[in-house]
Amino acid sequence: MKIYRVGGSVRDELLHLPVKDKDYVVVGANAKQLLQQGFIPVGKDFPVFLHPQTKEEYALARTERKTTQGYHGFNFYTDTSVTLEEDLRRRDLTINALAMDEVTQQIIDPYGGREDLQNKLLRHISPAFAEDPVRILRIARFAARFAPLGFRIAEETKQLIREMVKNGEANALVAERVWQETEKTLGEQHAAIYFQVLDENQALKVIFPELYTLLHQNRMLGEQAYYALNHATLLTQDKAVRWAALLYNLHTLADSIQINKQLLQRLHIPKRYIKIAQYTVQYAHCFTQIMTLSANDILDCLLALDAFRKESYFLSYLQSCQANIAVQYDTQHAQQCSQHFIHCLDVAKQVSVKAILEQGYVGSEIRVQTNQQRIKNITQYITNMTKL
Ligand code: ATP
Ligand code: MG
Repeated sequence: MKIYRVGGSVRDELLHLPVKDKDYVVVGANAKQLLQQGFIPVGKDFPVFLHPQTKEEYALARTERKTTQGYHGFNFYTDTSVTLEEDLRRRDLTINALAMDEVTQQIIDPYGGREDLQNKLLRHISPAFAEDPVRILRIARFAARFAPLGFRIAEETKQLIREMVKNGEANALVAERVWQETEKTLGEQHAAIYFQVLDENQALKVIFPELYTLLHQNRMLGEQAYYALNHATLLTQDKAVRWAALLYNLHTLADSIQINKQLLQRLHIPKRYIKIAQYTVQYAHCFTQIMTLSANDILDCLLALDAFRKESYFLSYLQSCQANIAVQYDTQHAQQCSQHFIHCLDVAKQVSVKAILEQGYVGSEIRVQTNQQRIKNITQYITNMTKL
């Protein structure tokens, strides 16, 4: 039995990047042997185990064969005779097909991964790349992640991706995997590159038709969406804000609410992402007009945005709008709008419902009174501000 460290951790180490999770491949052993040594099986029928102490992933060397279209259409073959080179060959990119013998520190590199690391190339290993459309998303994600290091996709790989899309392979992507890769990418500083790569290789239209419509309705709005996403990554680590910042311009489309709903539901996106994107698209006008709105209208916006009950969503909405206004106008104006909106909420929040109850109001009068006093507070704040 021989054990090698493989995949992302070897790649990242050679790039002098911090190494996160380590994966191992076990050659010349079978499941029984690993179980006897205390390894914990991960899935019922999958040759992957967790180390009894470190809980790192150990997989038996395997080969894969495509059976049907899509993510689940794989048969794998594992046997003590499967070699390390055969296991590495089923991987997606040359830079992800490196292995290390941790005892000798020797690197095993059968597919030119080190050279591609040096040349900063994302390149597929073999035509078998086309068998799994998730790889289109993965390569777009790596293009975004490694863009600051100067990485680009090899021409022949771009060609292959375009063929895959043309042959309908990308249609087989399941929503969960699309969102999984997209959400991971939103954590990257240069997340916009993910969408640009998909677009350049004709995959955006198939995978995110709603986004495609948004980004192509006119060139300026499309570019603005990418800039806004970039700006949002500077403002916050919050991936939901970054996602909403990208979608902001949907509000310029006639059936924006419907398109947004369709996109968010289709991808099974978590509720928080849905809410913030919905607020952003539906109430973008509140943010853009905030400096000139009446106290009455401002309160209507705050209520529509549920700001009194769910302030964290409101603050995220502000950030995604701020990213767009910063790109459209300037950073200072965007900050001003955001601060003004927050101050309005702060003064409105000072209204004490308890005091209103103590004054003897009952039923629907309570809400009417509360809102009247909120409007009074906002009006006072606006008046004081304009005097400054
Ligand atoms: P990350 O830093 O995002 O974890 P990674 O390369 O380690 O990147 P993982 O999803 O952790 O990605 O997968 C570990 C390894 O498994 C990859 O380096 C690659 O060799 C292989 N791999 C993962 N997914 C695929 C896939 N869909 N097709 C081919 N190989 C894959
Ligand atoms: Mg990994």
